[in-house]
Amino acid sequence: MKTVQEPDIQKIRNDFPILSQKVYGKPLIYFDNAATTQKPQCVIDKISEMYSTTNANVHRGVHYLSQAATDEHEAARQTVREYLNATSSDEIVFTRGTTESINLVATSFCRTLCREGDEILITAMEHHSNIVPWQLQCEHYGLKLEVAPISAGGELIPEELEKKITPRTRLIAVTHISNVLGTVNPVSRIIEAAHRHDIPVLIDAAQSIQHRPVDVRAIDCDFLAFSSHKAYGPTGVGVLYGKEKWLDALPPYQGGGEMIASVSFRKTTYNRLPYKFEAGTPDYVGTAALATALRYITTLGLENIDRYERELYRYATGKLLTLPGLRILGNAADKSSVISFQAGNIHPYDMGTLLDRMGIAVRTGHHCAEPLMRELGVEGTVRVSLAIYNTREEVDQLINGIQQIFGMFR
Ligand code: PLP
Repeated sequence: MKTVQEPDIQKIRNDFPILSQKVYGKPLIYFDNAATTQKPQCVIDKISEMYSTTNANVHRGVHYLSQAATDEHEAARQTVREYLNATSSDEIVFTRGTTESINLVATSFCRTLCREGDEILITAMEHHSNIVPWQLQCEHYGLKLEVAPISAGGELIPEELEKKITPRTRLIAVTHISNVLGTVNPVSRIIEAAHRHDIPVLIDAAQSIQHRPVDVRAIDCDFLAFSSHKAYGPTGVGVLYGKEKWLDALPPYQGGGEMIASVSFRKTTYNRLPYKFEAGTPDYVGTAALATALRYITTLGLENIDRYERELYRYATGKLLTLPGLRILGNAADKSSVISFQAGNIHPYDMGTLLDRMGIAVRTGHHCAEPLMRELGVEGTVRVSLAIYNTREEVDQLINGIQQIFGMFR
């Protein structure tokens, strides 16, 4: 099998200044990439360049700087469109992140397209960001939140999900890749089934767009949400992709500048897509830097990233499974680079704290997926999540660290 060679990875690592840092005198090993990724120098430089040379409020200025900032911001929208293979940049709405994107759809969709007794269908492996926004609307409009179950191995069971579709189902919201289990969900199949009943589907792509090619036209999703900061981009920026017909059907989410066509005290009319959903000054520095991050990913090649991360994931999983008493949660046939485990009787918090002292950053706890934890019968896990700059040597250090900690508790 062709692999991305180690020297390339070393070159990639050199792009990320933070990775050369030491913590507690130890080289930093960063395995918390599902929470947020580190930033390459080009993204850091872009932020600095924008504030140094191109800072002015967008869309409403006739002056040079405002035009330049607007051009950057709108070019970023084009970059996102190309990255997702959306039909039009009108389908790309900039938000603050996955959470805000989902809140936007939940609020605007349920307000206009749902009636009391209607149902929203999610799955048992959702992040709180794809649960709570729907619960808020369910509470407000008397809707029901239905939950498709998962298998003991942490896989969605498409037949079971389809059984949950009723004449009252108005929307299905599902994560592409679980941030806890790494399970890759068969989104095309789910979308196909939903569309047979004319039900739109929202894909939470927070854990997928940085790891695998995602083509919104190929999977035919109606909405898709992701966060810049999990894809090597800056914090505070996200994307909502929506098919034009759905975005057209939804009312604005927030009111303010930018989202209006005209305002009077008697009546306000709204701007065209996508601006109807972008109230207030957008984070044009963030969007420009997000575009830089997406270009960085594209230059590395998502296929190369996917192939390398899969190999590293298999290596890490194999090594972890050799440790007596360590149990990996979720063994889906298709998994991404997230590994959650329990280490015997050692509390995840203790494991995480002790690994931290060795310079190894992992995440511990419920990972914003409390219902999934309950489903799995655990309070929390230790989560190792990989990115393109992680190496086999780092995995070996992790294994070594866990062995030492096992020794301490023996
Ligand atoms: N959905 C999934 C699957 C996630 O993993 C996360 C973050 O961890 C989110 C949504 C929320 O992302 P953000 O906090 O960037 O809005």
